[in-house]
Amino acid sequence: MPFDGYAIGGSLGKTKEQIFEMLSYTIPLLPADKPNHLLGIGDVFSIDQCIKLGIDTFDSSHPTRSARHGTLFTKNGLIKIGNSSMKHDFNSIEKECACFTCTHYTRAYLHHLFKAKEMTAYSLASIHNIYFMVQLMANYRAAILADEI
Ligand SMILES: [Zn+2]
Repeated sequence: MPFDGYAIGGSLGKTKEQIFEMLSYTIPLLPADKPNHLLGIGDVFSIDQCIKLGIDTFDSSHPTRSARHGTLFTKNGLIKIGNSSMKHDFNSIEKECACFTCTHYTRAYLHHLFKAKEMTAYSLASIHNIYFMVQLMANYRAAILADEI
């Protein structure tokens, strides 16, 4: 049917490889001029793979759920803010990040908030992870427009 776009979701496989294989089969069957949305996938590795397969948009609780569990996204991988190595780390989560959390608070302060189970910790961590994802997608958008993907 001529929908405005197509959502792909449900049980796509038990492993990421099976999901990518299913998308490789499914996406060529969909109209190329309509956006493809993938439900429930939000980790950086999978997003990278799925964009290359033709997925245009995503929705997932992964960035905020990870944040609430103290896992913060950086360009160099994940940070566990609850680790003892963060206790005296007075850097921001990510030096180049312009989000509210990184421009106002240190890893040590966030570590303290998580250890104290202070609700602000979950909000500040979510702000960073969502900002990270928005920047990540902006970079993909620029790369697509420059025909680099
Ligand atoms: Zn940040």
